[in-house]
Amino acid sequence: MVIGSEEKMRITDYLAQINSQNTVLIVRPKINKTTFTAPVIPRSSALSNQKLQKQTKTIERDVVAANSTLQFSGTTTSHQSTRTSLKIQDGCDFMCTFCIIPFARGRSRYREFSNLQEEARMLVQEGIQEIVITGVNVGTYKTGKRTLVDVVDFLNTLPGLSRIRISSIEPTTVPEILFQYMSDAQHKLVPFFHLPLQSGSDIILQKMKRRYSAAEYTDEIWRAFESVPDLCLGTDVMVGFPEESETEFKSTLNLLKKLPLAYFHVFPFSARNGTPAFKMKEQVPPIVKQQRGEKLRLLSTKKRRVFHQKFLGQSREVLWESMKPDGTISGYTDNYIRVVLNELYNSDLRNQLLPVQLKELKGQTILGKFESG
Ligand code: SF4
Repeated sequence: MVIGSEEKMRITDYLAQINSQNTVLIVRPKINKTTFTAPVIPRSSALSNQKLQKQTKTIERDVVAANSTLQFSGTTTSHQSTRTSLKIQDGCDFMCTFCIIPFARGRSRYREFSNLQEEARMLVQEGIQEIVITGVNVGTYKTGKRTLVDVVDFLNTLPGLSRIRISSIEPTTVPEILFQYMSDAQHKLVPFFHLPLQSGSDIILQKMKRRYSAAEYTDEIWRAFESVPDLCLGTDVMVGFPEESETEFKSTLNLLKKLPLAYFHVFPFSARNGTPAFKMKEQVPPIVKQQRGEKLRLLSTKKRRVFHQKFLGQSREVLWESMKPDGTISGYTDNYIRVVLNELYNSDLRNQLLPVQLKELKGQTILGKFESG
């Protein structure tokens, strides 16, 4: 059975269609450039079979890896839910020269507003505390007069929901009002932006057909950083795009050094048949991509530590998410710091929003301690 991403939540219906003679079933609905709806299935009944659940998560991860965007999946099963994604958009019209998404997933289309409202209400009823708005290019969301801001406004009215996060957003599509929302302590939109840069070289950005220059990206990052207190800023960056010389790579490295970013996800360029970049002659050797990638990853590790250091000694709310068999409990602050509880705790803290003192750096996390503990 071959089914598209949009159909995956209906997998059990399609399973019923497969007959005993092992007929191949290919489900490829025609993609129209309009709106779409997604099934709203209570998480407790959607995938009762654990095996199916695992398979679905694998598919989701593959899709996200192909997107080179940030993944925020629901981390646990229904009775332990803390945060989950709400897909509002799919496909893309931007046609970056390295990207297969506009061909593989089609052009940009948007989830019907009433349908996403229905799912959001259901998620909150099921105890979800944090909704992560996802899509391939969420900043372009448009149904009638409604935009991404209307989605955020609606989620902000939901009683019981504690946090709204936007997964990843193209730098040229960020509505300015989101800075205000993030700066308002009463607003549920958390201080977090993941703005893909891809390259710090204008020559490469043009070859990629990205819609901004390095200077424009820089301005946006600083504007966000100066407008929103405690903001966590992350990015995606690509190394080894065809014809990326050492000089152009250094432009990326130097720009990343200067910007107030907390982390970056680094991807080596991977040629996708059917994209303009696939045909570009001067491909960068794999060893060079690897070396450039390592340099950027090292820088990202340092930057995250610098970002974390700013919050040591503060008290910050953590949405506790995971509890390992060895008793390790961890979760995230609103501004995406992973906190590991530095003490043994007997009761299950999952899905509770509780403040801790941020005590000490540990790798890419911070160790936290309850004030009374
Ligand atoms: S914005 Fe560019 S990289 Fe992102 S999905 Fe669209 S075409 Fe691909």
